[in-house]
Amino acid sequence: MPDCLFCKIVSGEIKGNIVFEGERLVAFRDINPQAPMHVLIVPRRHIDSLNELQPSDGGIVGEMVRRAAAIAEEHGHSAGGYRTVFNCNADAGQTVFHIHLHVLGGRKFGWPPG
Ligand code: AMP
Ligand code: ZN
Repeated sequence: MPDCLFCKIVSGEIKGNIVFEGERLVAFRDINPQAPMHVLIVPRRHIDSLNELQPSDGGIVGEMVRRAAAIAEEHGHSAGGYRTVFNCNADAGQTVFHIHLHVLGGRKFGWPPG
């Protein structure tokens, strides 16, 4: 996906503030953090949105969620709590069409979300 921002961060063409690099995933700090910890976890492989996930993608999604828990733990937020978010399409405010899991921590979050 030549024009995808997150593909460019994954490839290193655009510099990201990387916190984790694995075989199938990369995690980096959000450029406009909404909490003291705000990390985005993305698959290396381009997938537009949750709507394009296939049955065979179950493994990668599970890995993203488990990585979110690991990153929260590394930042000291396991016990206090943290928020994970996948935005999908316009009504949820998705702006980058390469799936990403937001991991936010370090403050209290409201419910329902805005
Ligand atoms: P979403 O609105 O769910 O699509 O989230 C996209 C997120 O990407 C937003 O929270 C942005 O602040 C973040 N973002 C945009 N550009 C960059 C960038 N170059 N590096 C890191 N995060 C970014
Ligand atoms: Zn992409």
